[in-house]
Amino acid sequence: MTEWISLIRDVPDYPQPGILFKDITPLLADPAAFTTVVDDLAEGYSFDKVVGIEARGFILAAPVALRRGAGFVPVRKKGKLPAETLEASYDLEYGSATIEVHADAFAPGERVLVVDDVLATGGTAAAAVDLVRRAGAEVVAVTFLMELSFLPGRERLPDLDVRALVTV
Ligand code: 5GP
Repeated sequence: MTEWISLIRDVPDYPQPGILFKDITPLLADPAAFTTVVDDLAEGYSFDKVVGIEARGFILAAPVALRRGAGFVPVRKKGKLPAETLEASYDLEYGSATIEVHADAFAPGERVLVVDDVLATGGTAAAAVDLVRRAGAEVVAVTFLMELSFLPGRERLPDLDVRALVTV
């Protein structure tokens, strides 16, 4: 059931001209819709930890972790995590970025679900997967609220279980 898709709003020319931004804040403000997507993101997977990618990934991944009795691990933009980190750089749909995870975030072989709101070019998610693996854990799946069909994001995530609740 994806009635909640009507709660995702298109914002033209954000964050720069020519980008049609998918704004999930109306969905987050609807508790029934928010609950549905949190449950659907993780349904059928078993995992020890949920990774959320800054910043909207945090909003989705933390409740997934709590509802499933798993731990939450933040992947953050460079310079935001206080202890020793691993880092990965990648190109974005608009610009480039470096993300980090704490080097000791996972026990060896832990099973990890990676969660973010939107799969666009796939660069962010691919970098997060790289970080999880370098930190010694196993990526069970990468799940998104939404996949942008006009971008080849999935190609950046080969040999992975990739789930998007809706494709637009
Ligand atoms: P990618 O690395 O796949 O090109 O971009 C995905 C990242 O950028 C995600 O972390 C996502 O939050 C953000 N992003 C890119 N485009 C959009 C968009 O249209 N809407 C939202 N909410 N996030 C986007």
